[in-house]
Amino acid sequence: MARVKALVAGNWKMNGEKASKKEVTALVRKLAGKKKLACDVLICPPATLVGLVKEAVRGSKIAIGGQDCHAKESGAHTGDISAEMLKDAGATHVIVGHSERRADHGETDAAVRAKAEAAHRAGLTAIVCVGETEAERDAGATLKVIRSQLKGSLPDAAAAKTTVIAYEPVWAIGTGRTPTPEDVARVHAAIRNVLEARFGAEGAKMRILYGGSVKPANAKELMAVPNVNGALVGGASLKADDFWGIISAYL
Ligand code: PEP
Repeated sequence: MARVKALVAGNWKMNGEKASKKEVTALVRKLAGKKKLACDVLICPPATLVGLVKEAVRGSKIAIGGQDCHAKESGAHTGDISAEMLKDAGATHVIVGHSERRADHGETDAAVRAKAEAAHRAGLTAIVCVGETEAERDAGATLKVIRSQLKGSLPDAAAAKTTVIAYEPVWAIGTGRTPTPEDVARVHAAIRNVLEARFGAEGAKMRILYGGSVKPANAKELMAVPNVNGALVGGASLKADDFWGIISAYL
């Protein structure tokens, strides 16, 4: 198995105001001097706060990402933000295809793929999200759904440095429920197989994050699962203490 440095990424979703800077500052303090930390750390605040959070992490190793981008570089797309604009604001990553965007905005695999390509065009790392609904899981269709989403959502040019996969079972997001470590292992192994079959050595090195109700109490167990190369964290990334409790799984 290739050695892959883990990534712990926080997705603030539609949460946070200027006052949230104090949480970022607290996290920067917790990270200071932790040379043995075996993971990278990323915060994806709402677009309104990318610049402010970038300022707050200055001098630390924390990277900043967006939560979505438009496929085009610029133009008449009211309310949208391009990958280039995120890059200009200081982002190095962008989440694409989060299940909330797939559900709320009807984003298809093809749309997600176009956004991932836009991220690459702008020099950003795309965090491409996949995950089954509860009904799909109950129907025994988890792996079929995941394989199909990967096939349709990943650009052909995806490489380990430019692309991260986040496996987020929809039924585990914000619910306090998580799959068993065995279930996570089964899905992550299937994802790894798909990545290696399509991208060869790059696929072996691509990070595969687990997301869905990761908390300080379950982080160590989930992060120890084979082929889990970090976490995408929603609710528990909003408070420095909680997010640090998850990051510490890599201390
Ligand atoms: C997410 O939405 O990416 C997520 C994983 O949320 P939560 O950690 O709150 O379940």
